[in-house]
Amino acid sequence: MADDAELIKRAHGVTHDRQLSPSAEAGGVGAALLTGNGKIYTGVCIDTACSMGYCAEHNAIGTMITEGESKIIAIVAVDDEGRILPPCGRCREFIYQIDPYNSNTRVILPGGRVKSISELLPEHWREDKTARELAENSSKG
Ligand SMILES: [Zn+2]
Repeated sequence: MADDAELIKRAHGVTHDRQLSPSAEAGGVGAALLTGNGKIYTGVCIDTACSMGYCAEHNAIGTMITEGESKIIAIVAVDDEGRILPPCGRCREFIYQIDPYNSNTRVILPGGRVKSISELLPEHWREDKTARELAENSSKG
């Protein structure tokens, strides 16, 4: 199974910052993720005017979902100079929501650090909702 260095290399390998049109560019950030089946999927960011673009992680996840997988063992995003970037809040939430396993996803961070998605999303609303529903149901009984 791929190690962190391999994922970082694959993420950097897809970066290629380029102008697509007067209002869109792509490839300034690349992402690579390792799935439960041991496959690696990659993606690049697409940046557009009017906020229609999306992150490299989002792109890699789309490809993974297309191929029928949703469990992410590890993920990393890298800019075109090879610097590791933490995922934005939307991507953290996206990773969390697509598979219950993904609260355990290893997120590779700058400085050789690694954190799980659950560590990057403390006090998550879904956990709060479940806890609230359990409390409400127990008070009814
Ligand atoms: Zn993002």
